[in-house]
Amino acid sequence: MAHPFSELTAELDDIAQQGLYRSRRIIESPQGINLEIDGRNVVNFCSNDYLGLANHPDVVNAFKAGADQYGVGSGSAHLICGHSAAHHALEEELAAFTGRDRALLFSTGYMANIGVISALLGRGDAVFEDRLNHASLLDGGLLSGARFKRYAHADAADLSANLEKAAGNKLIVTDGVFSMDGDFAPLNELAVAAKKQGAWLMVDDAHGLGVIGEYGGGIVEHYGLGQDDVPVLMGTLGKGFGTFGAFVAGSEVLIETLIQKARTYVYTTALPAAVAEATRASLKIVISESWRRDKLKKLSERFRLGAEQLGLQVMASSSAIQPILIGDSQRAVNISNALLDAGFLVSAIRPPTVPQGSARLRVTFSALHEEQHVDRLLDALAKIIAGCK
Ligand code: PMP
Repeated sequence: MAHPFSELTAELDDIAQQGLYRSRRIIESPQGINLEIDGRNVVNFCSNDYLGLANHPDVVNAFKAGADQYGVGSGSAHLICGHSAAHHALEEELAAFTGRDRALLFSTGYMANIGVISALLGRGDAVFEDRLNHASLLDGGLLSGARFKRYAHADAADLSANLEKAAGNKLIVTDGVFSMDGDFAPLNELAVAAKKQGAWLMVDDAHGLGVIGEYGGGIVEHYGLGQDDVPVLMGTLGKGFGTFGAFVAGSEVLIETLIQKARTYVYTTALPAAVAEATRASLKIVISESWRRDKLKKLSERFRLGAEQLGLQVMASSSAIQPILIGDSQRAVNISNALLDAGFLVSAIRPPTVPQGSARLRVTFSALHEEQHVDRLLDALAKIIAGCK
């Protein structure tokens, strides 16, 4: 008799055969640029902790003080008894930071995206998504029941052609900084198209907030766009802010609608208050320490230039995400493994996270890296890529 899940075993074998099997590594050290993995020390080039705040002493101490004050668990959803003074203060500070009327915390970015899109749209409406949007945005669009249309990557003309034909409420959804490519959405053009066609624009700036712009205001600061241009701004706290969770910022009506209707807000346990306290501490650093953004930019540019000189295939990125295109999935994994043996942690990103045939090394930088780390990585890449099948 076939054992339970025998069909799944065959599917797992198939995934492995295609070089697409995913597995985890066990980290034994705090987050940072040096990680201990399986008793080995490696330099980390795959974290989204871009500003190096995940283990910052002020952030860690605020977390501890938050746990002392509020306990560990939040006890319930925000609408029951889980919304602490720490959550409330953080929401007000995030609203001020983003220049929006209000902000609302969600427990994760994935949940924020699903909740927002399905709260704003339903049958008879239409959602327009960049082809390379993050999975959570695509899932939110599909879950909403609205007509689901993907437009060519960063192509406002393709979007506009589709927008003209749509009825009902229309929501345009885009990553701000694309998570696997590192390039920016053409937000100014998208905002114009949205206004022209009476559509709403939602930007997920998980990889831009705190990191891009002189003040860390992200992609909307970069383009100088306000709440009128980008009425739905979503950010995550587990990347540039170094903690955990997410938020949506916008008008009073938007936030009240989400509180009433976003199922991933209403029906889930609130973030621990201690995480909110830690994030309040990290937001202070994000605002006051612009050197972190400046350094990150310099390091990313140094790497990009060096990689180009080595003849590696860089992508059109001006962020801290600097992918090297490899193509074949197995080859990307082989290179990533060889880099690990040489003491560098760089993740291989494969389909379905990225389109078929575009497996890549997703190299990311932190404000805690130094130039010598970049140069050592470039040396290793030069040697390993040339010799790796
Ligand atoms: N949006 C984007 C663009 C992301 O890269 C991610 C995280 N990979 C998310 C949303 C999800 O955020 P979280 O990890 O907080 O669920």
